[in-house]
Amino acid sequence: MSGKRDYYEVLGVEKNATESDLKNAFRSLARKYHPDRSTEENAEDKFKEIQEAYAVLSDAEKRAQFDRFGHDGPSGSPFGGFGGGGFNVNFEDILGGDFFSNIFGGGGGSGGRSGRRRGSDIRLLHTVSLFDIYSGSTEETELELPTSCDECDGSGAEGGKTKTCSDCSGQGRVRMRQSVGPFVQDVVRECPTCHGAGQTSAVSCSPCDGTGQAMKSTTLRFNVPAGAEEGTRLRMRGRGQPAPQGKGQQGDLFIEIEVEEHPWFERSGPDLIMSLPLGYADLVLGTSINIEHLDGKNLTIKVPAGTNSGETLEIRKRGLPGRRSGGRGDVIVLVKLHMPKKLDKKTKKTLLEIKPSLAPKDMLERIKQDADERRK
Ligand SMILES: [Zn+2]
Ligand SMILES: [Zn+2]
Repeated sequence: MSGKRDYYEVLGVEKNATESDLKNAFRSLARKYHPDRSTEENAEDKFKEIQEAYAVLSDAEKRAQFDRFGHDGPSGSPFGGFGGGGFNVNFEDILGGDFFSNIFGGGGGSGGRSGRRRGSDIRLLHTVSLFDIYSGSTEETELELPTSCDECDGSGAEGGKTKTCSDCSGQGRVRMRQSVGPFVQDVVRECPTCHGAGQTSAVSCSPCDGTGQAMKSTTLRFNVPAGAEEGTRLRMRGRGQPAPQGKGQQGDLFIEIEVEEHPWFERSGPDLIMSLPLGYADLVLGTSINIEHLDGKNLTIKVPAGTNSGETLEIRKRGLPGRRSGGRGDVIVLVKLHMPKKLDKKTKKTLLEIKPSLAPKDMLERIKQDADERRK
């Protein structure tokens, strides 16, 4: 028994479906589930299933075999029954050129055909501290970024002179053979030589070595919003890689924020959490502690007399700004009893002296009473 679905069922067609029924069904399903653009769940698995079903049913011999034996073909393996050497389906012919230019045209640009070419995006990591995001900050950083070569205006060609690309004969696209699971499929991709332009330099521009791009030292200024979280992305439009050969839109620059660890504050959304170890006497008698806060002002932690180890104290609205709520979070202080590792003689003596007055009398009293009672 094979766990596979019936190929007719996969494509949603009748057993007597004609070649064009199959083609139509495959076309609409492939558009829906193509992994590069589908938002459906398990799109990739579904796409493979659809491909497999179509590859078998569109081949008269394999279809006849499937009709007779189902998935449990003569060779035992459901797939081995159908050729074994992989399928060769030209998906572009079925799906149409537009389908592929849409898929492959998104990021890198599909070149000559759509004319919407675009340089790559650049990602930059930038580290800030909790101080920076307490009220937001303006950052300035100097770095080398790719820009268009001034000499050739980004074309990569000396004097702007070009010739027809010999690898794609000026088409800007090349047909490539690609393996997808057991399949070999023909796909059409941007020509890697001319990046889809169909033209290459007659003579390469020498300052940029024909790339059309040069690194330039640039000063970037940007604002880190208050309360920015780890992974926050700031986008600077048109500051990424220039388009290939200077024709098309420059990519974007993304600045990804990394937040440095703080020595005692830990972040929980807009709240700042810290643990505060205190001596026994401070817990019993209460105390007040001042620390310098992220805003440079005093943060006063009032520990009331009789606070237990493990209790939390809240200092309202001194946390980070909430990205959604607008208001500030709290500072939450977790109080812990500090247990000394070693005691000097004097402290030990004093402790022994005051020990009776610190003992939990109620409980001991009750134990004694309970014993007396049982003795009666
Ligand atoms: Zn140049
Ligand atoms: Zn080319």
